[in-house]
Amino acid sequence: MSESGKTVLLVEDNEDNRIVYSTILKHFGYDVTEALNGEEGIAKARAEKPDLILMDISIPIIDGWEATQVLKHDPATKSIPIIALTAHALASDREKAMEVGCDGYLAKPCEPRAVAAAVQKSRGRSDARAP
Ligand code: MN
Repeated sequence: MSESGKTVLLVEDNEDNRIVYSTILKHFGYDVTEALNGEEGIAKARAEKPDLILMDISIPIIDGWEATQVLKHDPATKSIPIIALTAHALASDREKAMEVGCDGYLAKPCEPRAVAAAVQKSRGRSDARAP
């Protein structure tokens, strides 16, 4: 965990979404690192140990489901909360998000403030668990 406890890794292939989510998270005081595909997302999660990961599911090379499974099976990264961003509000997507180990789930299109609120809520839970 970072000293500030406020680093977010945003794994998202859509540039407009990256700009929008990154901008609002920075507005709320988070340091945001971006990754454009699943492979880069896994690499940056391992290298930077962010406090939270926002994981788009539809991303190139390794999709968000698989990237989440990889990170949740790695002792070095499994404790990092992952919030999935999925394109459809399908019940099956929600089930799958929990199945692969996601800690939260947002159905796109997501209002930027809903993204920031989900991050804050998740961080609040993590902080509450801290000694
Ligand atoms: Mn995408």
